Amino acid sequence: MDSEALRHCIEDDLKNGYRPFLVVGNAGDVSTGAVDKLDRIGAVCKAYGLWFHLDGAYGIPAAALPEFQGLFTGIDQADSIALDPHKWLYNPLEVGCTLVKDPKHLVGTYSSHPDYYHFGNGEDDQVLNFYEYGLQNSRGFRALKVWLTLRQAGRSGYMHMIAEDIRLSRLLFDLADKHPELEALTQSLSIATFRYVPAGTPWDAQYLNELNEALLNDLQEGGELFLSNAVIHEMYCLRACIVNFRTSQKDIEEIIGIVAREGTRVHETLQEKGAARRR
Ligand SMILES: *Cc1c(COP(=O)(O)O)cnc(C)c1O
Repeated sequence: MDSEALRHCIEDDLKNGYRPFLVVGNAGDVSTGAVDKLDRIGAVCKAYGLWFHLDGAYGIPAAALPEFQGLFTGIDQADSIALDPHKWLYNPLEVGCTLVKDPKHLVGTYSSHPDYYHFGNGEDDQVLNFYEYGLQNSRGFRALKVWLTLRQAGRSGYMHMIAEDIRLSRLLFDLADKHPELEALTQSLSIATFRYVPAGTPWDAQYLNELNEALLNDLQEGGELFLSNAVIHEMYCLRACIVNFRTSQKDIEEIIGIVAREGTRVHETLQEKGAARRR
């Protein structure tokens, strides 16, 4: 997010009689893992008195690593952060969390005391009723798995696993970069994006998009590996987001070989089809 553009949007809204109240920053973009300049967005929010929410569904756990302190500077200015422990805290699906700086906003928003609720909490016995902190009334004990995994792995265990995922993602990017028929595009947090570009003539942009989309479908159906996709500056590319502590260096090296092999095969098939159409 361009914080100057944000400022202009807010000014425009105010001039036109709208009342902005919320800014959502990205702390780990879905496609590339990019992180906004949180301190700059935080400063704009402060200047205009706006709620600053962070979408950290995937990326926020990386903020625990010392080497990422700089990337996440300004995280402390957020009023709320969305976090999915089923992503980079390795929990089973699903458990979505919102962290808020000041819980009184939740109680102020969600708490209600209809006649048919009687919890008998007087002044002396302060009871935590979770229905007062969110939309849900009846709720299952999803929090158990989050708590248990935090207890089991601990902060240092998480830091270790997350750092390893990032290392593997960087390795994948570097191997793609070195490979003559792969083009490495982006790397941030544990997401690397790249695409297959056949040797030879400079291929046109549309053909490379078709080729990589067909390649991704084949890879997914092939069952050897599972990559997803991203579209970056109109380039269709393959996306690897590593959030599994079982992913190994051997897996990463094999991905390169499989993508290159299948890329060649899909390219040949498309070329043959093109030639047949021209005949
Ligand atoms: C996954 C993701 C979401 C959506 O979260 P769900 O738990 O699938 O609803 C939103 N934002 C980001 C950045 C994500 O990575």
